[in-house]
Amino acid sequence: MSEISRLLDANHGYASARANVRDPKPSRHLAIVTCMDARIDVFAALGLHLGEAHVLRNAGGRITEDMLRSLAISSHVLGVDTVVVMQHTKCGLAGVTDEQLQAQTGADLGFYPILDHAEALREDVDILTSAPYLEPVRVISGVVFDVESGEITDVVRVERH
Ligand SMILES: [Zn+2]
Repeated sequence: MSEISRLLDANHGYASARANVRDPKPSRHLAIVTCMDARIDVFAALGLHLGEAHVLRNAGGRITEDMLRSLAISSHVLGVDTVVVMQHTKCGLAGVTDEQLQAQTGADLGFYPILDHAEALREDVDILTSAPYLEPVRVISGVVFDVESGEITDVVRVERH
């Protein structure tokens, strides 16, 4: 069976058991920005349920222009006031350079590599706090998820009133 057929098959069971959440606004006013890494089950790791949070993912869980675009909508249109940036240990973007990733992929892109998680999280939290249009966001947090133990380390937090 192809992977797509497996997905569609699994959806039959899911759809029949799924709770219908009508409100598009995340009920806990949360957005989680994290890496696409297959070892991170965001909802389980943070005790979240359907309808409670936006989950925005990319390689590295970095704040890129497209993350900012989504967060502008999250905060102004959908009531999000708390953003958590969750990077993780053993990330594919840690310990590599843009040049290496450009050579490996053939893509002339900025890949937002991570040299040091604390530094990268501070950088990303700074980008969020200095974006004038993210003023509705009152709490911004940066954490690191350990993909081996499942534990989270709190690295940086900004609360504004
Ligand atoms: Zn990663």
